[in-house]
Amino acid sequence: MKYHSTRGKTETAGAKEAILRGLCRNGGLFVSDALSAQKIDPERLLQKDYREIAKEVLLRWFPEYGEDALTESIQNAYGKTFSAPDITPLTRIGGDWLLELYHGPTSAFKDVALCMLPQLLSKALAGSGKRAMIVTATSGDTGKAALCGFCGVPDTAITVFYPEGKVSDIQYLQMAAQEGENVCVCGVKGNFDDAQSAVKAVFASEIDAALSERNLFLSSANSINIGRLVPQIVYYFESYKQLRLRGVLSAGDEVSFCVPTGNFGDVLAGYYAKRMGLPVRRLIVASNENRVLTDFFETGIYDRRRAFHQTISPSMDILISSNLERLLYEASGGDTALCASLMQDLKETGRYEIGAALLGKLRETFSAGCADNAETKAAIRGAYEETGRLIDPHTAVGFKVMREQKEAGEVCVLLSTASPYKFCRDVYEAIFGEREAPFGEGSAAGYAGAGGKTAGEKPEAGGLKAAGNGFWYMDRLYEKTGEEPPRALRELREKPILHREVIEVSQMKDYVFRKTLEKLG
Ligand SMILES: *Cc1c(COP(=O)(O)O)cnc(C)c1O
Repeated sequence: MKYHSTRGKTETAGAKEAILRGLCRNGGLFVSDALSAQKIDPERLLQKDYREIAKEVLLRWFPEYGEDALTESIQNAYGKTFSAPDITPLTRIGGDWLLELYHGPTSAFKDVALCMLPQLLSKALAGSGKRAMIVTATSGDTGKAALCGFCGVPDTAITVFYPEGKVSDIQYLQMAAQEGENVCVCGVKGNFDDAQSAVKAVFASEIDAALSERNLFLSSANSINIGRLVPQIVYYFESYKQLRLRGVLSAGDEVSFCVPTGNFGDVLAGYYAKRMGLPVRRLIVASNENRVLTDFFETGIYDRRRAFHQTISPSMDILISSNLERLLYEASGGDTALCASLMQDLKETGRYEIGAALLGKLRETFSAGCADNAETKAAIRGAYEETGRLIDPHTAVGFKVMREQKEAGEVCVLLSTASPYKFCRDVYEAIFGEREAPFGEGSAAGYAGAGGKTAGEKPEAGGLKAAGNGFWYMDRLYEKTGEEPPRALRELREKPILHREVIEVSQMKDYVFRKTLEKLG
């Protein structure tokens, strides 16, 4: 099983190297042509549990690791860290199905991949004498999931930069309270794009050479890493199995998936599941106001030259969906010259266009739709009133698009990518109307709720200081709906804040260098 770039076949790598490197030297993404031979018969999965299905999938993509190492990785990733015994439960939402991907340690679907990637990375490092500092900029969800995944993993440390004041109250507390010897969390004065660009600059800077002299190197937990993509294929097979076991589908029946989409990783995993033999009727790509993908699947023109919208589904606020490049590679029959030229167009002109034949091919499997903020809020309210389900804003984008597109008789699974409690304020307001928390915007006076701590109390003991509004909305939402918040989020109010540092963008490089030596040197 060899991997090569979407933009040329000369550079090849095994699974471990592809996972360590993340991105190819020519800027392309790792793909493998051996994939079409790696079929799984879904009938064989009906008696298997999530971890056994994960083993089937991972063995086909990463045979280099061997069965024992993969079994151990799966046990470490999905043994005790998920609060649901079946990892990704499938439940009802009205007449459709909700695949709940948010029962991991940070209540977002990124846990499924980010619990596994560190296991794979650490096993690829073992015996090499090298140690890796993971450096990630986050708009909210990735940072905490990566911190949890890498915490305590041998031969690795992790640095997460978040834009100060621009993540949700709960997201901030999740990161600021992260425990662990090998973790660094730091606020940056700027927005997510500033932090992201600065991280890329750190990777390309001279500290890379200075670190490699000491057998240290920088790596990323970015969603283009093949070690993040493959674990996401598993839950497509798992949900099919659950539908078969409940008699919703019979042998040979097809199922559709609707996927709230940003960087195109999650929905691409569904495409790979189809290629591996899962009977998928179609994949519905749901976007928010940043509707680049909706336009692309309608017209064949990918155009990022447009206003960027900050929405209530921030993890989908993306204008360049990196993993789409892999789909272009696969659907064009492995045309690396085409991929290279389209990506060159995107870089130079901000747009590219594919031919009618390729677009037709994509539309055999994909359809797309979008929801703006008002439609997203209406979908949160509608889902609650009609079906009794509480869904987060990302899932709500998918709910709206699924309802719009679903055809009679189509069995459709909506991927639910975050717990509604990660975004309690928007969810609360969408259902019950706007209501101000008593502490004002970005208030430093904490609200600790039932724990006996009150606004303005000294933060050291109970830990909670800033961002207490999040708990106020959490409590109101629980009161009104009776649906329990995830334990890890509830317990945050008791956690001390461990990371307070905030730096300028210009200081990020020095910070990474210093912390890498401190944690791994
Ligand atoms: C990351 C994320 C998405 C988008 O997933 P992609 O794989 O980037 O398309 C959707 N919802 C939530 C809650 C996320 O964190």
